[in-house]
Amino acid sequence: MRCPFCHNADSRVIDSREADEGATTRRRRSCPACGRRFTTVEEAVLAVVKRSGVSEPFNRAKVVAGVRRACQGRPVDEDQLQQLAQQVEDTIRASGVAEVPSNEVGLAILQPLRELDEVAYLRFASVYRAFTSVEDFEKEITELRERHHRGGTPPLPGLQLEPPVPRRRGGGRSAPAGT
Ligand SMILES: [Zn+2]
Repeated sequence: MRCPFCHNADSRVIDSREADEGATTRRRRSCPACGRRFTTVEEAVLAVVKRSGVSEPFNRAKVVAGVRRACQGRPVDEDQLQQLAQQVEDTIRASGVAEVPSNEVGLAILQPLRELDEVAYLRFASVYRAFTSVEDFEKEITELRERHHRGGTPPLPGLQLEPPVPRRRGGGRSAPAGT
């Protein structure tokens, strides 16, 4: 590893320890030329395998770019996008695999995006899950509504579509606790 101070081509490892519960290794290095010390962090590359079979390193910026597109015109700021991308990375890393198919990255985006902004979620889901009809949207919106009824996030004024059929199960809030 090259010295960041004097750019000497070589450096010596003087200490090495695991961090982040073993996910990273930190090495303390010393430069034989200038004597200064610096730290490097080693971390396994998380690879994303595309449908074509090509793999590339997981890229948080790509997640942000994809989600940002879905969030156009929505009250979502840059910090929230960054946080979401971090959440996605954490979720994938927590699965403990070194390679994930790209569609699982999409899956890992859906849940935190639903918490963040439901309209952006619908947009993203419609592309990611390749919605082909109004019914696909209705089904998704019905699910969002049911989440609201279960006491999740409060209903959004933006979602005005009515579900296509009357709900079968129970009369609403007083339904017996089944599960
Ligand atoms: Zn040096």
